Amino acid sequence: MIFKIEKKLKGSLGRVGVLSTPHGDILTPAFVAVGTKATVKSLNPEQVKDAGTQVVLGNTYHLYLQPGDEIVREAGGIGKFMNWSGPTMTDSGGFQVFSLGAAYGKDISKVTKVTDPSLLIPERFDDSDAPRLAKIGQDGVSFKSHLDGSIHYITPEKSIQIQHNLGADIIFAFDECTSPAEDLRYQEEALERTHRWAERSLVEHKKLNTENKISLFGIVQGGREESLRKKSAEFIKSLDFDGFGIGGSFAKEDMSSAVKWVNEILPEEKPRHLLGIGEPEDLFMGVENGVDLFDCVAPTRLGRNGTIYTKTGKIIIMNTKFRNDFKPIEEDCECYTCKNYSRAYIAHLFHGKEMLAGTLASIHNLYFIVNLVKKIRQSIMDDTFYEYKKEFLLNYKSR
Ligand SMILES: [Zn+2]
Repeated sequence: MIFKIEKKLKGSLGRVGVLSTPHGDILTPAFVAVGTKATVKSLNPEQVKDAGTQVVLGNTYHLYLQPGDEIVREAGGIGKFMNWSGPTMTDSGGFQVFSLGAAYGKDISKVTKVTDPSLLIPERFDDSDAPRLAKIGQDGVSFKSHLDGSIHYITPEKSIQIQHNLGADIIFAFDECTSPAEDLRYQEEALERTHRWAERSLVEHKKLNTENKISLFGIVQGGREESLRKKSAEFIKSLDFDGFGIGGSFAKEDMSSAVKWVNEILPEEKPRHLLGIGEPEDLFMGVENGVDLFDCVAPTRLGRNGTIYTKTGKIIIMNTKFRNDFKPIEEDCECYTCKNYSRAYIAHLFHGKEMLAGTLASIHNLYFIVNLVKKIRQSIMDDTFYEYKKEFLLNYKSR
């Protein structure tokens, strides 16, 4: 993997680059489509590609449980298995194992004491897919499968072995993702674990990466605490990773400062991925603060539920007013859905619970977000980033 910076955004950490992988180039900043179970929900790979997607990310936790990483390896890796010829990534499984798993059984009201839960970034997967129990030890984590209740034990070595079997171009070190609701002492302990696991992930990766085709990204954690975020960035930076992920469940109001603290420390010449984040306002914030890659389930998850992105904000297509609205979702949108279907038709599909509903909405939403990042990239090339950001955010109402 080679990362080349083409242009920098003046007065900020932002940059435009090209990330070359064995399966092709990714023009950065880029939005990564999430294909949790080796499928971007309700879309086939041609539709994903036509929406402008350059790279797809699968979830280690899900693919390990079903169909099993050995089967994906036998199929020739995740890309071949799912018929996606472009670049691929997998996450480490840490987020899935911990985020809800570790919170399982704890007093939920703890969250509200620290921050308004509505400000928390939505989780990257559906609650029904969460592990039912997770127990963290120094060596790894044991958890109960959400599918059949079977008990599994994942160590950093195991996560890397699974990810090598899945065979994506870019993989992630195993980390512990803590809730911002946890106290400082817990955050410190968790960070120490994440750092030890980063070292162990790297050792295992070097052992397995004999053909040198797979790139490993380390993950910076540290919650909402400035000193811990900076400490984590310093430590992870000191290890021989090919790039970096910025992890954690953020409170929305902390996100930009956390990203800035971290990216001021991380080496400029390596790519950075802000994990699980991808709402329009977050994309501008991330790019401006030096993020190269984003992934988020929002475009497809919202799409399946009938919530659709537009330049003026999200619309709920099931609203009565769309029943006889024969305009496309957006007049000037170049996506397949907008070129061929009306709001009334899509609303009708949702009311009738037709399968095509989720597909058409997801095509538009994915196109909207992927294309937004492309436009942000172009605006940096054209020296119009700040004007574009101002204009977009003036029109876009997030709530
Ligand atoms: Zn469209």
